[in-house]
Amino acid sequence: MKQLYSRIFSILIFFTSIPAFALEDITLQLKWTHAFQFAGYYAALEQGYYREVGLQVNIVEASPVTNPVQEVLDGKAQFGVGTSSLLLERAAGKPVVVLAVVFQQSPYKIFASPNIHNLHDLIGKRIMLEPQSNEIIAYLKKEGIPLESIHQIPHSFDADGLMNGDAEAISGYISNEPYYFQLAHYPYQTFSPRSAGIDFYGDNLFTSENELRKHPERVKAFRAASLRGWQYAKEHHDEVIDLILSKYSKLNSRDYLDFESDQMIPLLQPNLIEIGYMNRNRWRHIADTYTEIGLLPRNFPLDNFIYDATEPDLIWFYRGLIIALVLSGIITSVALYILRTNRKLQSSLIKLSTTQDALSKSEKHYRFIVDNMRDVVWILDPETLRFRYTSPSIEQFRGFSVEEMMGMPMDNVLPPPEAEALKQKLHGYLKEFLSGNYTDKIYVEELPMLRKDGSVVWGEVIAKYYRNEETGQIELHGVTRDISERKAAQEEIKRLATHDILTGLPNRMLLNDRLQQALIATRRDNSHGALMFLDLDKFKQINDSLGHDIGDNLLKHAATRMLECVRESDTVARIGGDEFIVLLRTVEDARDAIVVAEKIRFALSQPFEFASHRLSISCSIGIAIYPEHGIDSVELSKNADIAMYQAKESGRDNVRLFEQGLKT
Ligand code: GH3
Ligand code: MG
Repeated sequence: MKQLYSRIFSILIFFTSIPAFALEDITLQLKWTHAFQFAGYYAALEQGYYREVGLQVNIVEASPVTNPVQEVLDGKAQFGVGTSSLLLERAAGKPVVVLAVVFQQSPYKIFASPNIHNLHDLIGKRIMLEPQSNEIIAYLKKEGIPLESIHQIPHSFDADGLMNGDAEAISGYISNEPYYFQLAHYPYQTFSPRSAGIDFYGDNLFTSENELRKHPERVKAFRAASLRGWQYAKEHHDEVIDLILSKYSKLNSRDYLDFESDQMIPLLQPNLIEIGYMNRNRWRHIADTYTEIGLLPRNFPLDNFIYDATEPDLIWFYRGLIIALVLSGIITSVALYILRTNRKLQSSLIKLSTTQDALSKSEKHYRFIVDNMRDVVWILDPETLRFRYTSPSIEQFRGFSVEEMMGMPMDNVLPPPEAEALKQKLHGYLKEFLSGNYTDKIYVEELPMLRKDGSVVWGEVIAKYYRNEETGQIELHGVTRDISERKAAQEEIKRLATHDILTGLPNRMLLNDRLQQALIATRRDNSHGALMFLDLDKFKQINDSLGHDIGDNLLKHAATRMLECVRESDTVARIGGDEFIVLLRTVEDARDAIVVAEKIRFALSQPFEFASHRLSISCSIGIAIYPEHGIDSVELSKNADIAMYQAKESGRDNVRLFEQGLKT
């Protein structure tokens, strides 16, 4: 025992004698008074996460006149809590750097009196806006409500302003005002900027460029410890509420803090997204929204504004490792003593850790499957139409990286008609889900999707709405499979049903379809068209003398020559044997049609040279003009056929117009 104490003592001496391990005093400036909104920082301090990385952190609340950005820039605090408007500070020449986004969604909304049924009802009414509610201003603008059309009055900073009738609407936090509305049974209305696609971040952690330049390791360590604190707070909110009440502030009741935590935790969106995660494209969207309302120049650069958390923090990692090793040395020694006297506890600990191991292995196993499958697994926020998660296979499927896909609304990368139709459908499905009658319904859609290079890939989407038990939010969960090959096969089957296999020309079925359309168009425009029947002369002789294969080849070459004589809007069809039909969609008069027919006759009369043969053929062509020689396909075909036989009978190798021709 004596030996053990002397060992602990010597370790402690070693630990305290290294100057690098002296705790560094730093300050975190909050943006408001103590509340659950800052839970992660209290948890990090209480759990010793800051101490573990050598930091002594002083958490300072804000008074109504405190400007957290100024406190950090003046060096009175090293870190601060901010909102998306940090971007505007940056544009105003203040060198702030955003380190991590804590709330993935903004809690800002408009709360209105019960007689305001839609945003446009606010025109001409009084609204209380907080000084920094740019998100709300952008929202009003996007909905077509100019600021001049509403009567803006100073904010009372409480829910009473609305309930007393001082204004018809107020801006506020979902975690604050609704608590008081519900206490008073006040039937308020809520309007969210997210419904107009404005998707701002909520609270974030920031520092100054100066701090980052002088103490990069300290910044990394503080950031990491704070995010650990947020993870803890998310899992132990009751404990953190106790902590706020006992150590920080009794200003808010437990009931209020419970309500606040219930509202704020979903905004962390912790499942699948790492706490603190920032997406460059989301910041770009926020910057662009500011640009739209004239607060930022176009393409405002984000380069030094967004902190790059990807580099490993080796110095602090090793420092943390040494501390962890020293501490684990102490703990192991003490644990050995305790474990000797309590084997039962040990065995239950082992069981627990085995279960945790098994769980973690199983999670790794599923993660491996999702990460390596070809199908794309995803989760979508139905309100903003942005992905909350997509599996890495998206890159192979669409050419966009996971980051890029998560940074833009889903409908951005669909062809516009499909995007609009899908939005309507999703809206309808969501209504079904919310009605509670279709909670297990699975939706299947086949959709053309745009790839990054602009090409189209077909995907089969299987999706289902789902209520996230952890956050209470509704999500659309789905799997998308690449069905381009299946689609191509379907297209090929369709093509084979409508085209002649030998020449690739449209067959009789497709020709009939086009003829029907042409007749309708002609009736509508009061115009003319022509139908020509063409039959090769004495083709049988070629087959008989040179063989069927040469005959086939000749048919293919003849088809190509005919196509070269007509316009793209015309149709050349093979309807069997050596018979072809040419549909000229519009002609001025019969002479026009005769000119084209003569052109074809001349083209086919030129010798064909292939497979060391030189062949000469001719053809006979009969023409019927519509509507003059028939107003439906049956009559027209019959008359063109009669004309063609007249051509054959008058010696072949010529063109005949039905009867006397077009009477003009
Ligand atoms: P005519 O001037 O009276 O049209 O004489 P023809 O020899 O061309 O006789 P007709 O048009 O009545 O016969 C068409 C011939 O085309 C019959 C057959 O030998 C040949 N034929 C039909 N289908 C095919 C085919 O798919 N390939 C080949 N190579 N020949 C075909
Ligand atoms: Mg023939």
